[in-house]
Amino acid sequence: MTHAHTLGFPRMGAHRELKFALESFWRGDSTEAQLRDTGRTLRQRHWALQREAGLAQVAVGDFAWYDTTLTLAATLGALPARFGFDAKRLTLSQYFELARGRADQPAMEMTKWFDTNYHYLVPELSADTAFDGGVDWLFDEVDEALAQGLSPKPVILGPISFLWLSKVHGAQSAASAGLDRLSLLPRLVQAYRRILAGLQQRGVQWVQVDEPVLCLDLPADWLAAFQPAYDELATPGLKLLLATYFDTAADHAVLAAQLPVQGFHIDLVRAPQQLDAWLAALPPQAVLSVGVVDGRNIWRSDLGRILAWLQPLQARLGARLWIAPSCSLLHVPVTLDHEVKLDAEVRSWLAFATEKLGELKVLSQGLRDGVDSVAEALQANAQALAARRASGRVTNPVVQKRLQRITADMAQRHSPFVQRQAAQREALQLPPLPTTTIGSFPQTSEIRQARAAWRRGELSATDYLQRMRAEIEAVVRKQENLGLDVLVHGEAERNDMVEYFGEQLWGYAFTDNGWVQSYGSRCVKPPVLYGDVFRPEAMTVETTRYAQSLTERHMKGMLTGPVTMLQWSFVRDDQPRDVTALQLALAIRDEVSDLEQAGIRIVQIDEPAFREGLPLRRTEWPRYLDWAVHAFKVSACSVRDDTQIHTHMCYSEFNDILPAIAALDADVITIETSRSAMELLDGFGAFDYPNEIGPGVYDIHSPRVPSVDAMVRLLQRAAEVIPAERLWVNPDCGLKTRGWPETEAALGNMVQAAQRLRQAGR
Ligand code: GLN
Ligand code: ZN
Repeated sequence: MTHAHTLGFPRMGAHRELKFALESFWRGDSTEAQLRDTGRTLRQRHWALQREAGLAQVAVGDFAWYDTTLTLAATLGALPARFGFDAKRLTLSQYFELARGRADQPAMEMTKWFDTNYHYLVPELSADTAFDGGVDWLFDEVDEALAQGLSPKPVILGPISFLWLSKVHGAQSAASAGLDRLSLLPRLVQAYRRILAGLQQRGVQWVQVDEPVLCLDLPADWLAAFQPAYDELATPGLKLLLATYFDTAADHAVLAAQLPVQGFHIDLVRAPQQLDAWLAALPPQAVLSVGVVDGRNIWRSDLGRILAWLQPLQARLGARLWIAPSCSLLHVPVTLDHEVKLDAEVRSWLAFATEKLGELKVLSQGLRDGVDSVAEALQANAQALAARRASGRVTNPVVQKRLQRITADMAQRHSPFVQRQAAQREALQLPPLPTTTIGSFPQTSEIRQARAAWRRGELSATDYLQRMRAEIEAVVRKQENLGLDVLVHGEAERNDMVEYFGEQLWGYAFTDNGWVQSYGSRCVKPPVLYGDVFRPEAMTVETTRYAQSLTERHMKGMLTGPVTMLQWSFVRDDQPRDVTALQLALAIRDEVSDLEQAGIRIVQIDEPAFREGLPLRRTEWPRYLDWAVHAFKVSACSVRDDTQIHTHMCYSEFNDILPAIAALDADVITIETSRSAMELLDGFGAFDYPNEIGPGVYDIHSPRVPSVDAMVRLLQRAAEVIPAERLWVNPDCGLKTRGWPETEAALGNMVQAAQRLRQAGR
């Protein structure tokens, strides 16, 4: 049977068992033994699923108590020295301290895994990182699989990717200053050698070594590092499968083919065009694992088409052809089995991780025994796909017609910024350095409980509405008392900034259990965008109008932008992303107009995910930025000159996309700066950002209340690079996860800081 395998499986469990076990352990409600038990049960359950799907090998090492990169750092002996831990004797509690911080040490930094919404912990290396080995957890898991009579295929991030994704810590110390990470490679590779030797001793045959950095624009010295590193890794008796994913690695196929590895995995869902380059470079004995089932999205595969396409490939490669999902299945939910409320029609179009294993099984059988042997499965698959194509719910003629009628004018404000700025000053009458917040206020447990009760039908819609209105009134009064200039309604009614809008739009469906790990125990449940997006009625107007009615000050309308809606949903694979973004933009555009009609003078369109949509390859950036900017502008540009459009962005470095941010032409951008305030401001200053800007003056991710002085200093520094007339004063992100006491204290100080500077400026 054609060798089918998976690059990894979601570790959380179909009911997020790992999440609950972790959180219970962290609270001290359960023992380490109980936690370990849950982990073991989940691993074994997931291996059993792989076995049932006929996979000859099961993925091992894709499990982690928090994050696989952190576990790898602990395995290699590459832990941050500042914690003072011995990697060889690392306890589970210490492992969690690395991930979550402790009283005297902040947690290790966390950042997005390539272009996914999974976050890994960034290894902190220094000139004296020993790489002298650490925990044996991988070996234990291999033993566990062997004890089950399974054939384990360990999965491990390769040395070049590990190093590329790391950072040098303590760069201020003499030893680490200017340290070139590549200089650590020889020592790092020795640590890998020991791991591979240990796996070989256990009788492991294949190890999957992931080098997703081969899909990035890697500098030449990093590319050159592959050969010497892999020469060291060659281990007699052990075969290595070098895995790439998330984009094409075609330009490095020749380089890869020279490495002493026995196989390659490539992502043919994201980058089908790379096959020829790999076939041309493939050494005569090497395995080629083709990723043909989408590991990043939740649609059923077109099995008939894939099979027809695989057959000639099999004729050519024989047993050297392996099939797999495009990447680890970590990025999709576990199973459709527990989807009961999910729309039955939409459900029939989907495949989650378990169903994707089933697809591999059909493909593999079809390749071995011929198409007829799987005729039934293929027919069911074809029917589901045909039903999806033919469904009246996918295509909406009204939306199609509007798409065709989008003109350049619709993506352009009526007047240039300076003119709008004058009109807005006149209309809004705000003080210099106006103060505002990013939108949400603390989502207290009472708010969440009220929503849950309403959803369960235990609280009537009227009662729920009253509760939300009471909450809005309370936050309006608080903001007035604090002395804020531009108010928000607080977003109490929103569970999530994408889900809230998705639920009111046609074309979106919601899963019951479609959880995907975001980081640690945190999971997200991206909605499923399956059809043309249509806004049947206004979504936020009543709430915003009500909030405005409570105050003389300006109430800022609060919307999620098209790029973020797209980025945080599972989106259609039957039309390009830019078309879906444009449909979302039209829906938001109508909402913006309705808010304006209702007398709202300031509307914020949040785009926190704007940067994370960037393709991995820089050559693809301009195209993405073009359509993303266009979509945003279509959503924002219907309004009069004196209606002020804000946008908000967070979580990332923006300096390399400043021209695109300026091209959004929002009147005001509020932006996260907490990680590196000066770096960001320097960027905006050097670029000469033309419109108004509110650099976050305090980090909402921490409960610490910043002093007035600290915020004054930050604003003064900001005023050195951006003229004070164009500066706003605000926190760096929404306050949803904060408690009220620190929120009020911090905002009180923030308002004072603005007042002090206004007086100084007079
Ligand atoms: N308006 C949103 C909020 O305040 C913005 C969230 C975000 O930036 N991620 O919660
Ligand atoms: Zn934010």
